[in-house]
Amino acid sequence: CFCQLSGQIDDCFCDIETLEKFNNEQVFPLVSQLVKRDFFRYYKVNMFKPCNYFDGDIGFCESESCGVKPCSEEDLPVGLRNGNFNKHTPDTEDVECNKPKKSISDINGTLRWDKHDDTVHQFCDIDDESSIELQYIDLIANPERYTGYKGPMAWRIWRAIYEENCFIAFSKLFCITRPETMSQNVNPFKRIPQGKIHRQHIIGMCLEKRVFYRVISGLHTSINTHLSAKYLFEGNIVIWEANLAEFQRRFDKDVTKGEGTARLKNLYFIYLLELRALSKAAEYFNRGNVVLFTGRDKEDVKTKEMLTQLLDLTKKFPMHFDEGVMFQDKNSRGLKREFVQRFLNVTRIIDCVTCEKCRLWGKLQTQGLGTALKVLFSAKEMNGKSDSPFQLIRQEVVSLINAFARLSESIKYLQTFKTLH
Ligand code: FAD
Repeated sequence: CFCQLSGQIDDCFCDIETLEKFNNEQVFPLVSQLVKRDFFRYYKVNMFKPCNYFDGDIGFCESESCGVKPCSEEDLPVGLRNGNFNKHTPDTEDVECNKPKKSISDINGTLRWDKHDDTVHQFCDIDDESSIELQYIDLIANPERYTGYKGPMAWRIWRAIYEENCFIAFSKLFCITRPETMSQNVNPFKRIPQGKIHRQHIIGMCLEKRVFYRVISGLHTSINTHLSAKYLFEGNIVIWEANLAEFQRRFDKDVTKGEGTARLKNLYFIYLLELRALSKAAEYFNRGNVVLFTGRDKEDVKTKEMLTQLLDLTKKFPMHFDEGVMFQDKNSRGLKREFVQRFLNVTRIIDCVTCEKCRLWGKLQTQGLGTALKVLFSAKEMNGKSDSPFQLIRQEVVSLINAFARLSESIKYLQTFKTLH
């Protein structure tokens, strides 16, 4: 039921109708084309980092749909091939030169935010992009869609993310058995009283913790919306199509005892947070700190043009998320550190996802979200008021734009499901 999906988005000064119109009519047509350009299409990632979270057998996704095919050298545009990878990011000296001459604190909240900034906050482990452990993956050839990854393998990941890192002590609150002792096929989440108690618990949190929970939940919504929108129907021929029943099972207000609507709203929330980060990052991009280099001149010019168009669009949006109200309390420094640490944990838990395709998109989207948070948390460095220069490496830039494109597409898919409904 979409009837409750309207009006104000909690913790923001924005309503769903305005956001949907802005996304569906302006952002989505642009960003969905931008991520098809070569610079954003090839994501360099270490797919085989060890999982340090679970002992013993962590299961394996045997479905063919879980596989990912990395690129060979010949598949890549010349500028991304071995030996050329470094030509896309200016080195630190260039970044120093490109520091802004004056503060860009024209954006609401920047000044207030400044006083809590001490270092550049790194929300994700940064890979050495020249390492041979990293591979390029063609994101168009390996789309995010239904893979069949589910059951205890998947629940264990979501549970570790929510229970151990989202500031929610489910097990203490509701006395549920921990995953290790859990019978194999029982969904641990079913034991959590859903609906009222759950929502009250979220509402009772302080803003910063609520933001953390809501962005993770919004990401979860986006992933599950995508797999419902590109669901596998196997018959004489294989078709990937929207599956309304699957979507309803996950989000219908009656099936989920009201939780579905709140989860869908969290999708709008994470979208607003990443949109705000893009609008703040615009100055950094416009100063030429990121060179969109693939070795194909025409392609690179077009990519730059489209990215500039997107960033301009984000700056014009009138109802941005205001991170300036976060971490204003005297205890904020510790809370902020914990926020960063917990987010890092989440990104590391994704290394334990045993479906390769899900791991790829999980890594990309958490890295994109981590980069958005880094932008929001680093006003001082971005304004040139700190000795440590702000810098984004190619992997961060690619994940930032692609992660935002995923959210944009999910919101667009909601319209598809509304129509089907
Ligand atoms: P799950 O989605 O596993 O959810 C577990 C529990 O979390 C639910 O019972 C509910 O109580 C709670 N919950 C559900 N949604 C939310 C929300 N938005 N906010 C808060 N709580 C919520 N599968 C694919 O087919 N393709 C993919 O690309 C894919 N990528 C994945 C990436 C990651 C990182 C992970 C961990 C899983 C991925 N999956 C993917 C699996 C998918 O997300 C589900 O876990 C799976 O489909 C099983 O769904 P489920 O109905 O059992 O509930």
